[in-house]
Amino acid sequence: MPSDCLFCRIISGELPSAQIYADDAVVAIRDISPQAPTHILLLSRKHVASVRELTEADHDLVGKMFAVGTELAAREGIAEDGYRLVVNVGRNGGQTVDHLHVHMLGGRRMAWPPG
Ligand code: AMP
Ligand code: ZN
Repeated sequence: MPSDCLFCRIISGELPSAQIYADDAVVAIRDISPQAPTHILLLSRKHVASVRELTEADHDLVGKMFAVGTELAAREGIAEDGYRLVVNVGRNGGQTVDHLHVHMLGGRRMAWPPG
Protein backbone atom coordinates (compact mmCIF):
# COMPACT_ATOMS: atom_id res chain seq x y z
CA MET A 1 0.00 0.00 0.00
CA PRO A 2 1.50 3.35 -1.01
CA SER A 3 1.75 5.27 2.27
CA ASP A 4 1.21 8.59 0.51
CA CYS A 5 -2.08 7.55 -1.16
CA LEU A 6 -5.09 9.33 0.32
CA PHE A 7 -7.56 6.54 -0.38
CA CYS A 8 -5.20 3.81 0.86
CA ARG A 9 -4.91 5.76 4.11
CA ILE A 10 -8.71 6.06 4.33
CA ILE A 11 -9.19 2.35 3.60
CA SER A 12 -6.68 1.36 6.28
CA GLY A 13 -8.47 3.59 8.80
CA GLU A 14 -5.44 5.85 9.23
CA LEU A 15 -7.59 8.77 8.02
CA PRO A 16 -11.26 9.21 8.92
CA SER A 17 -14.10 8.90 6.41
CA ALA A 18 -17.84 8.45 6.28
CA GLN A 19 -17.76 4.79 5.33
CA ILE A 20 -21.04 3.21 4.30
CA TYR A 21 -19.91 -0.16 2.95
CA ALA A 22 -16.91 -2.47 3.03
CA ASP A 23 -16.12 -5.99 1.87
CA ASP A 24 -12.92 -7.80 0.93
CA ALA A 25 -12.62 -5.95 -2.40
CA VAL A 26 -14.56 -2.69 -2.20
CA VAL A 27 -14.96 0.16 0.30
CA ALA A 28 -17.59 2.88 -0.18
CA ILE A 29 -17.40 6.30 1.45
CA ARG A 30 -19.27 9.57 1.13
CA ASP A 31 -17.41 12.18 -0.90
CA ILE A 32 -16.10 14.96 1.33
CA SER A 33 -17.23 17.56 -1.23
CA PRO A 34 -20.55 16.22 -2.53
CA GLN A 35 -21.60 17.34 -6.00
CA ALA A 36 -25.12 15.92 -5.65
CA PRO A 37 -27.47 15.04 -2.75
CA THR A 38 -25.98 11.54 -2.88
CA HIS A 39 -22.28 11.38 -3.78
CA ILE A 40 -20.58 8.11 -2.95
CA LEU A 41 -17.08 6.96 -3.87
CA LEU A 42 -16.62 3.26 -4.60
CA LEU A 43 -12.98 2.51 -3.82
CA SER A 44 -11.05 -0.62 -4.73
CA ARG A 45 -9.42 -2.00 -1.60
CA LYS A 46 -6.40 -2.82 -3.75
CA HIS A 47 -4.26 0.14 -4.79
CA VAL A 48 -4.54 0.65 -8.54
CA ALA A 49 -3.54 4.13 -9.71
CA SER A 50 -6.25 4.48 -12.34
CA VAL A 51 -8.23 2.63 -14.99
CA ARG A 52 -5.08 2.84 -17.13
CA GLU A 53 -3.26 0.51 -14.75
CA LEU A 54 -5.96 -2.20 -14.66
CA THR A 55 -4.92 -5.66 -15.81
CA GLU A 56 -6.88 -8.78 -16.68
CA ALA A 57 -6.45 -9.90 -13.07
CA ASP A 58 -8.60 -6.92 -12.01
CA HIS A 59 -11.65 -7.76 -14.11
CA ASP A 60 -13.52 -9.35 -11.20
CA LEU A 61 -12.66 -6.35 -9.04
CA VAL A 62 -14.18 -3.91 -11.52
CA GLY A 63 -17.29 -6.07 -11.80
CA LYS A 64 -17.54 -6.11 -8.03
CA MET A 65 -17.27 -2.31 -7.82
CA PHE A 66 -20.23 -1.92 -10.15
CA ALA A 67 -22.22 -4.61 -8.34
CA VAL A 68 -21.69 -2.81 -5.03
CA GLY A 69 -22.78 0.42 -6.71
CA THR A 70 -26.04 -1.24 -7.78
CA GLU A 71 -26.64 -2.45 -4.24
CA LEU A 72 -25.87 0.93 -2.67
CA ALA A 73 -28.06 2.82 -5.16
CA ALA A 74 -31.00 0.73 -4.00
CA ARG A 75 -30.07 1.25 -0.37
CA GLU A 76 -29.74 5.02 -0.88
CA GLY A 77 -33.11 5.22 -2.64
CA ILE A 78 -31.75 6.57 -5.93
CA ALA A 79 -32.03 3.44 -8.06
CA GLU A 80 -35.50 4.08 -9.46
CA ASP A 81 -34.98 7.73 -10.47
CA GLY A 82 -31.50 6.99 -11.77
CA TYR A 83 -28.01 8.17 -11.04
CA ARG A 84 -24.63 8.62 -12.65
CA LEU A 85 -21.45 6.59 -12.35
CA VAL A 86 -18.28 8.49 -13.26
CA VAL A 87 -14.66 7.39 -13.51
CA ASN A 88 -12.18 10.21 -14.07
CA VAL A 89 -8.95 9.05 -15.69
CA GLY A 90 -5.77 11.09 -15.72
CA ARG A 91 -5.34 14.83 -16.02
CA ASN A 92 -7.76 15.49 -18.86
CA GLY A 93 -10.30 13.22 -17.21
CA GLY A 94 -10.20 15.33 -14.06
CA GLN A 95 -8.69 12.67 -11.79
CA THR A 96 -7.27 14.18 -8.61
CA VAL A 97 -6.71 11.07 -6.46
CA ASP A 98 -4.57 8.38 -8.06
CA HIS A 99 -6.41 5.40 -6.60
CA LEU A 100 -9.14 3.60 -8.55
CA HIS A 101 -12.60 4.88 -7.67
CA VAL A 102 -16.06 5.23 -9.17
CA HIS A 103 -18.23 8.24 -8.32
CA MET A 104 -21.91 7.54 -7.76
CA LEU A 105 -24.00 10.71 -8.03
CA GLY A 106 -27.74 10.84 -7.52
CA GLY A 107 -30.67 12.69 -6.02
CA ARG A 108 -30.85 15.33 -8.73
CA ARG A 109 -31.08 15.54 -12.51
CA MET A 110 -27.64 15.41 -14.15
CA ALA A 111 -26.63 17.56 -17.10
CA TRP A 112 -25.14 16.32 -20.34
CA PRO A 113 -22.56 16.85 -21.75
CA PRO A 114 -20.42 16.92 -18.62
CA GLY A 115 -18.09 19.88 -18.14
P1 AMP B 1 -11.32 12.42 -8.65
O1 AMP B 1 -11.20 13.91 -8.86
O2 AMP B 1 -12.16 11.71 -9.66
O3 AMP B 1 -9.95 11.80 -8.47
O4 AMP B 1 -12.13 12.24 -7.31
C1 AMP B 1 -11.58 12.41 -6.04
C2 AMP B 1 -12.70 12.71 -5.10
O5 AMP B 1 -12.25 12.49 -3.79
C3 AMP B 1 -13.22 14.15 -5.16
O6 AMP B 1 -14.61 14.15 -5.49
C4 AMP B 1 -12.99 14.67 -3.75
O7 AMP B 1 -14.02 15.51 -3.28
C5 AMP B 1 -12.92 13.39 -2.95
N1 AMP B 1 -12.15 13.46 -1.72
C6 AMP B 1 -10.95 14.08 -1.51
N2 AMP B 1 -10.54 13.89 -0.25
C7 AMP B 1 -11.50 13.16 0.36
C8 AMP B 1 -11.67 12.64 1.69
N3 AMP B 1 -10.75 12.86 2.64
N4 AMP B 1 -12.77 11.93 1.96
C9 AMP B 1 -13.70 11.72 1.00
N5 AMP B 1 -13.61 12.16 -0.26
C10 AMP B 1 -12.53 12.88 -0.58
ZN1 ZN C 1 -4.11 3.86 -2.93
